[in-house]
Amino acid sequence: MLLDNYKSVQEKISEACARAGRDPKEVTLVAVSKTKPEENITELYNAGVRDFGENYIQELRRKHEDLPLDIRWHMIGHLQRNKVKYIAGYITMIHAVDSFELAETIEKEAVKNNRSIPILIEVNVAGEDTKFGVSCEEAPALVRQIAENLPHVLVSGLMTSAPFVKNPEDNRPVFRKLRQLSVDIDMENTDNENVEMKTLSMGMTNDYQIAVEEGATIVRVGTAIFGARDYSRQKTD
Ligand SMILES: *Cc1c(COP(=O)(O)O)cnc(C)c1O
Repeated sequence: MLLDNYKSVQEKISEACARAGRDPKEVTLVAVSKTKPEENITELYNAGVRDFGENYIQELRRKHEDLPLDIRWHMIGHLQRNKVKYIAGYITMIHAVDSFELAETIEKEAVKNNRSIPILIEVNVAGEDTKFGVSCEEAPALVRQIAENLPHVLVSGLMTSAPFVKNPEDNRPVFRKLRQLSVDIDMENTDNENVEMKTLSMGMTNDYQIAVEEGATIVRVGTAIFGARDYSRQKTD
């Protein structure tokens, strides 16, 4: 059942790629499993799925401990500095970095783990009060500051959560703006070894097809794969 959902999302990604003249191999589908039981992850894992997204550190730690080691875990939620140490050893990508202070902590934990950690800068493109993320205007300076000071933090691109809208078409300008910002930042950082603006993490259940048309290389899809979430059963941290 979950696998059917997953495949149907993949198919829609392929169709969106076809409309935009893109290769579907350029797009990674991250299955957002937050609040969902480990059996759900195992079901997809057994069919070959490896990229999963989580928002809450406590839950991520438990799942990482219980489930196969070759799962690629993506931390997609807001991350507190004092929690970085719990995931620094294995996390595939931290999607929502929006301050130099958080990046500094990631640098410290990356060094301790003798690795470099790929991150994305979270951009609040639409300027919503309720959302984390830097503004489009602040993003280039943050990338530069990280590039010049934190050699174990690999800036791999940008991430955004677009507004919740009835018509996903309304988010097209948001995705377009993030992509243009990424191109601009890439041009400014051709000399910086730890800046590789290859990843655009944008698009969720409601709007991922539009995001793919506009250049997303990662879409983060939960509900369309796992069904609606029940937060009442889960302590979130
Ligand atoms: C929960 C979440 C998603 C998945 O949202 P759906 O609408 O269920 O697809 C994607 N990105 C972030 C940052 C999330 O918190």
